Amino acid sequence: MTSSASSVVSARNLCLTYNTNDGPVHALSNVDLDVRKGDFVSFIGPSGCGKTTFLRVIADLERKTSGDISVNGMTPEEARKARAYGYVFQAAALYPWRTIEKNIALPLEIMGYDRQEQAKRITRTLELVNLSGFEKKFPWQLSGGMQQRASIARALAFDADLLLMDEPFGALDEIVRDHLNEQLLKLWKQTNKTICFVTHSIPEAVYLSTKIVVMSPRPGRVTDIIESPLPAERPLGIRETPEFLEIAHRVREGLRAGHSYEE
Ligand code: ADP
Ligand code: MG
Repeated sequence: MTSSASSVVSARNLCLTYNTNDGPVHALSNVDLDVRKGDFVSFIGPSGCGKTTFLRVIADLERKTSGDISVNGMTPEEARKARAYGYVFQAAALYPWRTIEKNIALPLEIMGYDRQEQAKRITRTLELVNLSGFEKKFPWQLSGGMQQRASIARALAFDADLLLMDEPFGALDEIVRDHLNEQLLKLWKQTNKTICFVTHSIPEAVYLSTKIVVMSPRPGRVTDIIESPLPAERPLGIRETPEFLEIAHRVREGLRAGHSYEE
């Protein structure tokens, strides 16, 4: 398989077709993409363009139909078994009957970490997402933004180098989202993770990413890949700069080009 050493995710001619009662659905068609170590890659495009499917293929939750995909130089199955990634879902998906610390502990329990190691990791990841002191709270005692941070902490707890995030902030209001975007950038810099991030929001994609992957549906495919020229240091105010607006414009054009208005 052709994948350079620094490639965390490498896809070549990747296709995935779902067979449904209404016939085949081409969710991914000839996707070529490299995600390099330390990249922050956003996937943006309308519903149904295959964003979730692509993350699920990386995570070995769906199998490709044809083409190549490698994760850390391995097959997705090998990478899953090596615990290559943490996954953050759109809804925080915390267990309501477990406290925050018990929610974070769950995957650690399953992986067989002892109590002491669990406690250490819970403390560290809650610090990373600014939730120290909320260990004993239940999810319903936290705001939506805090719940989403707790679910990020859970994905960080086993310290995989790759984080897969599927519209983690989609359901939050804009002020909370701005704040979490800033925090996520800080966390990404602090931890040197590689992040694959799905979003519907152009400003969110441009603000966060080193690379923006624009997708379009029917068939699900990549229509543009934009390497961001923005500096690593990004105060929220950067969103008003000409450089930022120029990238946002290119993303918007890409989305428009891939959109069919007849439907
Ligand atoms: P996105 O996350 O960009 O909205 P998805 O990856 O969820 O897109 O879906 C891509 C396409 O595949 C859509 O047309 C969707 O209806 C279809 N699809 C997704 N999952 C399944 C499935 N398990 N079975 C059949 N079709 C599916
Ligand atoms: Mg989706």
